[in-house]
Amino acid sequence: MKYFSTRDVKNTVSASYAIAHGISKEGGLFVPDTIPTLSESDINNLKELDYIGRAKYVLKLFLNDFSDEEIENCVKGAYENSFDDNNPAPISRLGDNVNILELWHGPTCAFKDLALQILPYLLTTSLKKTSGDNKSVILVATSGDTGKAALEGFKDVEGTEIIVFYPESGVSDMQKLQMASQQGENVHVCAIVGNFDDAQSGVKQIFTDNQFKSLLADNKMEFSSANSINWGRLCPQIVYYISAYIDLLNDKSDISGGFNVCVPTGNFGNILAAYYAKEMGIPINKLICASNKNNVLTDFINTGKYDKNREFFLTTSPSMDILISSNLERLLFIMSGYNDEYISTIQGQLSSTGEYVISDDIKNKIQDEFYGGCCDDRETKETIKNIFEKFGYLIDTHTAVAVNVYDKYLKETGDNRPVVITSTASPYKFADSVCNAVGVEVSNDKFKMVEDLSRFTSTDIPKPIAELKNAKVRFTDVYSKEEMYSAVKKCLNIM
Ligand SMILES: *Cc1c(COP(=O)(O)O)cnc(C)c1O
Repeated sequence: MKYFSTRDVKNTVSASYAIAHGISKEGGLFVPDTIPTLSESDINNLKELDYIGRAKYVLKLFLNDFSDEEIENCVKGAYENSFDDNNPAPISRLGDNVNILELWHGPTCAFKDLALQILPYLLTTSLKKTSGDNKSVILVATSGDTGKAALEGFKDVEGTEIIVFYPESGVSDMQKLQMASQQGENVHVCAIVGNFDDAQSGVKQIFTDNQFKSLLADNKMEFSSANSINWGRLCPQIVYYISAYIDLLNDKSDISGGFNVCVPTGNFGNILAAYYAKEMGIPINKLICASNKNNVLTDFINTGKYDKNREFFLTTSPSMDILISSNLERLLFIMSGYNDEYISTIQGQLSSTGEYVISDDIKNKIQDEFYGGCCDDRETKETIKNIFEKFGYLIDTHTAVAVNVYDKYLKETGDNRPVVITSTASPYKFADSVCNAVGVEVSNDKFKMVEDLSRFTSTDIPKPIAELKNAKVRFTDVYSKEEMYSAVKKCLNIM
């Protein structure tokens, strides 16, 4: 297996190169040139393994130039001690057919932990193979969740430094406290006067500044990227869909006719991982793509036209407030038969005009595999309330979008196969909206509010959130946008 770029198939690289570089030089994303399949004996082997064993088994199929020992180190480092009950992806069942895949038992209580806990290990292993002993410097601009998940993932990982920039008044108090109290010797957190775009463009500028790169090189350092288009983030996400299937088999669920998967979607990374699992032979019937009011993907799946020229809404499921779903490029590349010219053309149209229309042939292929639906904040709130009243089970706003869209799918199609609904965040992470939905008073005192929610719903506050109450603030520096260069130098202790 080789990896190649979605915009230039002649540009072939190894898995470690794809992970170390993140994005291809002409702007394409790296994808494997073949998708490995799981035989019946593979499935039988997987049944005997725990999550760590399954992760090793699956990653080995994709990471062609990693040794068994390297994969073992990566997987154990990521998943052995960082998740509740040592199971990163447990299933809760609601009724006969609905399986909730809970991906929020990690250190930041959201699904990004599944990828960002392992990425630092994959990245440092890849860098050793491709560029020697330089220290890897990760710059992250965040509007909240990704920054914390990346900090937790890279904390004290040898050979790395991580610097996170966040907009001083653009994240919630809880998110600010989570980042400002981050532990670890190699972590740095800086507030920026400005909004998320200021932080983001500042990071991009530094990241591509050649003079700055040579300054880093003089100090035996180099920049690397942890963003969501890195194959090292996508690949580990395939594991939990395969693992969920194995769990259903072990539980003797009746999935003889296959099962559906429903994913609350933003950047299209999580649902693309489910598509890869399907292509590997997991009997997934329909991939249900759930969006909030920013429903660019719903329209795309239904019409074949991707159009980001539309009003942008701030919703109660903020991690899905996205108008450009970057990982969609990988799906279109596969569906077009690995047509790099075609992808370059439509991505060019997207950056110049904000839209493109795919061919009928590709549209039909996508509609065979995917269903697109969306819901607004009112429906999200009602769904949280209904699920709690019916099952005593509490879901967050993002998961609620998925549950709501699944209900629409079921009504529209009558397809009542078992379903796996991906639950991407703990309800305690979005406590305001969840309290509001189930009828707990929303309070300015965040800690009182989560305690009220816990008492009212008889559910436990996740440890990482409960522990924040006593967290000590370590980082208080605030920089102007212009000072971001000197902030990086100061964090890395270079001149
Ligand atoms: C990032 C995120 C999503 C969207 O996932 P994508 O891979 O970007 O589609 C959904 N829910 C939560 C809680 C997230 O943090």
